[in-house]
Amino acid sequence: MESTQHALPNAKTVEAELLHLLARQSRRVPIPVFLAAAMIAGLAAARVPTINWAAWLVLVGVVLATRWAVLGMLTDRSRFSEQQGLRIAIVLNAVNGVTHGLSLAFFPYLTDFERAVQSFLLIGLCAGSIATTAGSRPAFFAYLIPTLGPLAILWAVVPSDSGAGWISISTAIIIVLFSAVLIALSADANRLFRESFEIRLQHVELNRQLKAALEMAESASRAKTRFLASASHDLRQPVHTLSLFAAALEMRPLDARTREISQHIGTALQVLAAQLDSLLDVSKLDAGIVQVNPGTIEVEHLLERIAKEIGPDARAKGLDVTFDCPAGLKVETDAVLFERVIRNLTGNALKYTDSGEIRIDAVKQDESIILIISDTGRGIPDSEQARIFEEFYQVDNPERDRTKGLGLGLSIVRRLVHLLGIRMEMVSLEGKGTQFFLILPQSDGTHVTAPPVQQATFLSALLHILVIDDEASVQEGMRILLTSLGSRVSTADSTDTAAAAAAADRPDLILADLRLRGEDNGLIAIRAVRALYPDTPAILISGDTAPDRLREAEEAGIPLLHKPLHADVLKQAIAKAMTSDQDRAVA
Ligand code: ADP
Repeated sequence: MESTQHALPNAKTVEAELLHLLARQSRRVPIPVFLAAAMIAGLAAARVPTINWAAWLVLVGVVLATRWAVLGMLTDRSRFSEQQGLRIAIVLNAVNGVTHGLSLAFFPYLTDFERAVQSFLLIGLCAGSIATTAGSRPAFFAYLIPTLGPLAILWAVVPSDSGAGWISISTAIIIVLFSAVLIALSADANRLFRESFEIRLQHVELNRQLKAALEMAESASRAKTRFLASASHDLRQPVHTLSLFAAALEMRPLDARTREISQHIGTALQVLAAQLDSLLDVSKLDAGIVQVNPGTIEVEHLLERIAKEIGPDARAKGLDVTFDCPAGLKVETDAVLFERVIRNLTGNALKYTDSGEIRIDAVKQDESIILIISDTGRGIPDSEQARIFEEFYQVDNPERDRTKGLGLGLSIVRRLVHLLGIRMEMVSLEGKGTQFFLILPQSDGTHVTAPPVQQATFLSALLHILVIDDEASVQEGMRILLTSLGSRVSTADSTDTAAAAAAADRPDLILADLRLRGEDNGLIAIRAVRALYPDTPAILISGDTAPDRLREAEEAGIPLLHKPLHADVLKQAIAKAMTSDQDRAVA
């Protein structure tokens, strides 16, 4: 208890709590207590001079009012410590008790019946004070002793008016016994009060710990996102340059051996680019900028296509691939993102299965469609099953051999199913195999998926392209690549030089790096060129995967490509930018 209080400097102590309770009760009880006192005064009115009972009643009123005012003041202001406040409250309780006990001065003048009524009222007030003092021993005794103590004595010593002495003695004994019961009850009440206070303190402490743990987890997650973003940015830049040079190299006349080497470089770069793309996917999903375009998917077609795609690799490993789907099944989801989920899962099934088969089944259950991707591979030990959805977590790759993947596939799947609202379950038995279940609502087929956008034909030949990038090697790579595609290229490394280059020679298209030197950036540069030639088509290229940056580019409405850039992706983006510009002109 002590240590909990020290750990909680702002929490109230049990004394402060008791003081508050006493103050609260002192505001509630004055009226019923005063009515009880008025009744005792009423009994005495016929037996003692008016001045006596009236003065007593006034005294009771004054004490109740003083107690009410002082206790309120003690809790409102912090001039006194809690202990001092509590001491004052106990003294006030004692004064209250003594005042009520003073009514016993009327006792000898009352009839037996009136004495019984007076006793009943005093015992009632005493029992009530257990609740109003939370059984606090000093506060309760301060009231009990000056009231029931003299009452028992008076019953024992003052002769009964009816002459039945045994009634008086018995009543005295009963009052003593009853007082003992009240004392025991008050101890229980006090224990409960302290326990409930302690539990509340523990709750406060638990809440505080929980909040701290949550904040820590959130900050760790933010740090992880920042790390992912900056690591992938730093890696993207050189890989991007390398890709540009590799693509340019492949377009040159090469002897057979050099072409083979160049193709190896291209393949290795593609693997690297795919891994960087996974990092980017995680960043994009975390930034919340991945858009969901729901549509209706024909499950059978999708499964057939995927089974066909993985067929050759599976056969090369000696595995069977089968799929089973009732004809006409349709689901409502985003086709591209959903396919990504299935590809990641089937890709893993292929990677982690050495013999047996990979199955992709779809079954209809009530209003849902369940897609089951099963393999007869190595399975995942129970102890690892929760962790495999974490980023970079791999069960059996302590040497972190990157040809075995990055450990991002399932963390992307987890984010995607969450985004798409798909329920996913996994059952895996070590050494036997793994099954992933994807549970989706069945589609009534009313939404029709838009046909895939036709890639515009390549139009970059004869274009004048302004490349804005603050890295000379990237400028050079772009120049070589784009000129080998037949374009004319100007380069600039900042907004100022871009505006100057554009003023000297109007570009048909701007290719700008998002992050330039200092405060400068590709968006500012594009705006500067468009100030001279409005509506010039533009493409942003970025190695940045920081969620904020991605959002900024998205909001500007300019297509954004990510480094490292594959030559085909660049070609298509240029063609698309030029076509949509023509569309704009027609519109
Ligand atoms: P990666 O496949 O790149 O290692 P994932 O995030 O896709 O990363 O998977 C994480 C880990 O989960 C893998 O390293 C593998 O150990 C385990 N795993 C995933 N799918 C399967 C599967 N079908 N069978 C056995 N193990 C699997």
